Amino acid sequence: MRIFALFLLAIVVRAETLADRTQRYFVDLIKLNTSNAPGNETLVAKYIQAELGKEGIAAELLGGDPQRLNVVARLAGGGPQRPLLMMAHSDVVPVEPKLWTVPAFDALEKNGFIYGRGAVDTKALVAAEMAVLVELKQRGVKLNRDVIFLSEADEEAGSTGIQWLIRNAWGKIDAEFCLNEAGGREVTAGGVEVYNVQTSEKVPTRVILVARGSAGHGSLPRKDNAVAHLSDAISKLTRAYMPVQLNTTTRRYFTELAKLEEYKWLGPLLGKFEANANEIGDKDGELDAMFRTTVSPTMLRAGMKVNVIPNQAEAQLDVRRLPGETKEEVYERFRKIINDPAIEVLPEPGQDMPATEPSSLTTDLYKAMEVVIRRKNPKAVIIPYMSRGATDGAFLRAKGMAVYGVPVFLRDDKPGRAHGNDERIRVSTLREGAAMLMQVVEEIALAK
Ligand SMILES: [Zn+2]
Repeated sequence: MRIFALFLLAIVVRAETLADRTQRYFVDLIKLNTSNAPGNETLVAKYIQAELGKEGIAAELLGGDPQRLNVVARLAGGGPQRPLLMMAHSDVVPVEPKLWTVPAFDALEKNGFIYGRGAVDTKALVAAEMAVLVELKQRGVKLNRDVIFLSEADEEAGSTGIQWLIRNAWGKIDAEFCLNEAGGREVTAGGVEVYNVQTSEKVPTRVILVARGSAGHGSLPRKDNAVAHLSDAISKLTRAYMPVQLNTTTRRYFTELAKLEEYKWLGPLLGKFEANANEIGDKDGELDAMFRTTVSPTMLRAGMKVNVIPNQAEAQLDVRRLPGETKEEVYERFRKIINDPAIEVLPEPGQDMPATEPSSLTTDLYKAMEVVIRRKNPKAVIIPYMSRGATDGAFLRAKGMAVYGVPVFLRDDKPGRAHGNDERIRVSTLREGAAMLMQVVEEIALAK
């Protein structure tokens, strides 16, 4: 009888581990369809509020649109340091179900992977951050600073969630620094473990080119043909030399990268970077995009009949500019390169993403990540990087917060499946990632 009672007790007190909790949250989150548009992120916000509520953590739903709420929760530290913010967005990009071989919102587990839209971008991080918050609460540890959790809506489209919070609830998310998406871990072919910490982002700068000429019959060619002028302009822009510029992050990026066997060739070229930039860029397009503003023509519009010369032709360009350049500088350069009065270079109407300095490589949080990584693997290479894509971290950097894409999850697929089909994460990656996130948070937020 007594043995039976002890046995029961053992079952009751066996708490859910951090990894189990992360996996449970993750599976539940994948099943909540927050495809943006329309988003419906309130589904996730309410789920998080309920789960954290069970642990005695009050979470607040905030936002301007009742269907698209953000959720914020805070563990009070009482210590002297300014807060740590853990953030991750709750929306996902839409799916084309026909192109998936598995259902996109069932969190199906197969061959050691869990499949679902948002698996890597970025519900794994939402789940891990929730689980870490609960772990801190359950252990009752003493914190040297507040730890804030934020799951925000609409990152994949208009960034309305983060902008609403900054305008209306800044005090609830203001922090010394932030852990965000876009970091990653990988292992090179040579077996070296690489941690990519995102500290900076290029700035989407969409440009419209409008060519104007006179209309006429297709049987009589005209020198002011708008389509011909437009194609000339596009051709000049895509072949033009764009200036080379490095910042604190990309300078360190190239130095660290050259330590890897695969990039040994970079070493001798780094001394005279500017002079060797074309050689580096020609060899590797991804590296080229790390030190230049880039131009990709993506959309064209002209004409309505093959025998009618249109008086106007239009192209849209996906330009990703270096954060150290203003958009006016970019437009001005484009006008000079095109050098054609028939072409107008116009900004795409709409809201701008902020351009910001890279987050510092010497903050306590950056150092804490270095400590955790070195403890795990003294031979690991830690590479800060600037992402070509934008995240909502840019809005926080613009407010002066240091924001880092935390490199806790191993990249299981190369190229990655974020925004692609059959998006998935390895179960072990999810569980190990949560454990590592916990170590980073402990390193920076536990009172010593
Ligand atoms: Zn994302």
